Amino acid sequence: MAATVGNKKDWQRTVECGALRSAQVGETVTVNGWANSVRDHGGVTFIDLRDRTGLVQIVVDPTRNATSEEAHLAAQTVRSEFCLSIRGTVSARVPGAENPNLATGEIEIKAARIEILNPCRTLPFQIDQDQAGTNEELRLKYRYLDLRRPSMYEKLRLRHEAVRLIRAALYEQGFLEIETPILTKGTPEGAREYLVPYRLQPGLFYVLPQAPQQFKQLLMVSGVERYFQIAKCFRDEAQRADRQPEFTQLDLEMSFATQEDILNLVEALMVQVIEALSEKQIPQPFVRLTYDEAMARYGSDKPDLRFGLELVDCAHILQNTGFAVFQNILSSGGQVKAIRYPGGAKLARSQMDELVTLSKEFGAKGLAYFLVDDEGNASRGPVAKFLSNEEKAAIVAAASAEPGDLVGFIADTPATTAKVLDRLRRLIGERLGLADRNTLACCWITDFPVFEKDEETGGWTYAHNPFSMPNEGHMALIDTDPEAMRAQTYDLVCNGVEWASGSVRIHKPDIQTAILRKLGLDDAQIEARFGHMLQAFEHGAPPHAGIAPGLDRLVMFLTDDENIREVIAFPKMGGGFDPLMNAPSPIEAYQLAELGLQITPKPDGEKKV
Ligand code: ASP
Repeated sequence: MAATVGNKKDWQRTVECGALRSAQVGETVTVNGWANSVRDHGGVTFIDLRDRTGLVQIVVDPTRNATSEEAHLAAQTVRSEFCLSIRGTVSARVPGAENPNLATGEIEIKAARIEILNPCRTLPFQIDQDQAGTNEELRLKYRYLDLRRPSMYEKLRLRHEAVRLIRAALYEQGFLEIETPILTKGTPEGAREYLVPYRLQPGLFYVLPQAPQQFKQLLMVSGVERYFQIAKCFRDEAQRADRQPEFTQLDLEMSFATQEDILNLVEALMVQVIEALSEKQIPQPFVRLTYDEAMARYGSDKPDLRFGLELVDCAHILQNTGFAVFQNILSSGGQVKAIRYPGGAKLARSQMDELVTLSKEFGAKGLAYFLVDDEGNASRGPVAKFLSNEEKAAIVAAASAEPGDLVGFIADTPATTAKVLDRLRRLIGERLGLADRNTLACCWITDFPVFEKDEETGGWTYAHNPFSMPNEGHMALIDTDPEAMRAQTYDLVCNGVEWASGSVRIHKPDIQTAILRKLGLDDAQIEARFGHMLQAFEHGAPPHAGIAPGLDRLVMFLTDDENIREVIAFPKMGGGFDPLMNAPSPIEAYQLAELGLQITPKPDGEKKV
């Protein structure tokens, strides 16, 4: 049994590793932590002991009286990542042996006693090395070791700090933090749902929420007025570097609030958190663009505003063009748009080929272009000879193109033109180093369409979620021109990435019913899926609005990570697999029987995960 000193066991730390400085020289201390490295220098053992506050050097020198024989013997068995308690005297390092890279680099602890609290098996990977070199599946299988890396701990700490700041700011503004159910009914946010079979009545299922959307709206009907939650959301969709099957959002909702109130609140909150926790530049106020403006100027509703390179609509310049290819596209409802590539006249063959390949990959037939010569004229390039001098001069001027630039054209349907030019714009920005990592260029994209054409069914689907309030007067278009309808929706976009999505909600049952009908639901389906919402709206539902910024995304901005798995303590691999817990995994036959379920193997060729 370990001895107890006061309230403490004698192995327990009296001080944290990273806290020791010259001022403590002469003090006897106990430190706890892990052997970050162990080095033997001719009988003298050096251990770098690490806890979450930092490293301190331990010296076990059998030639000194202070080091007991026992400590010396223990030190010889210590290997990387053993968990240790070390007692000793803080000493100044000999002149010349200081380590300026270490906060504790002026001192070391001369060990008198070493207790091995727990040894460590041979490591699956080196913890004192950068994670970049380690296979990711192995890192996730041994996530508890991966998280011992100070850089990973730092990410967890930053995430915690961000949540702490968010909570403090929202508490201050009268928001209530309220949990909503995980076992619930589906709420549409555009992804496939995770289902949980209901044991008591086989054939019934709970759905894991894609967002707490309906509950937060119901809380507004309850009179809560200001709600937030650090909410887990579940979406069964294709895995990408920036997606996880379960992720976290700062979910919030406010009654008697307008779009303006939400935008101002979230903008101030995000700026506060970013400025407190990073050195990033975050220009303010955030730019505001309607969806239509963003599509016209950048070909995307997620424009990266760290650089310009706006798209140039050439329709008015080319309205009488003699170039049949462009003329045909324009007269059949298509678009001809241009993008400037600064210095692009000097592209290597391979770089040019990449632009063309990319354009085709995203649906264009090719990439037309001309080059601007030293006189500022579009004299060379495949389309130079097909356009008149006036047309070329007007395009050069509209694109603000300069000598040495390339001007690329995409002529296609509006959707393809936008998609391809957005992609090209990002590539050009990347190649020219215009996307400064230290800047967070945020913008609000507003007034999204209410409906989108569903490619599969040919019917209408919702663009955001079906609870968003159409713009004033736009309900009048629901039968005549639904595509032209716009909603009081807003996305927060940062550096070309969607960060938050929200809207003013529908709080009138007749509007909600009309929208759901337009989405193809009949009255029985509306009643079964959304009857509770409609009923709630009939009980004095207040006008309300909300939003949900991604928390993982926020931390990724803070840490500069592009892989969402880096900022989540226990993330899943592609396909939603968790190599640490080995989940998902088969269940026992009796469990299936209890649930009234039978497994039918997937047909050959269909992917299992
Ligand atoms: N349900 C969210 C909102 O509008 C959006 C989302 O979950 O993506 O508040």
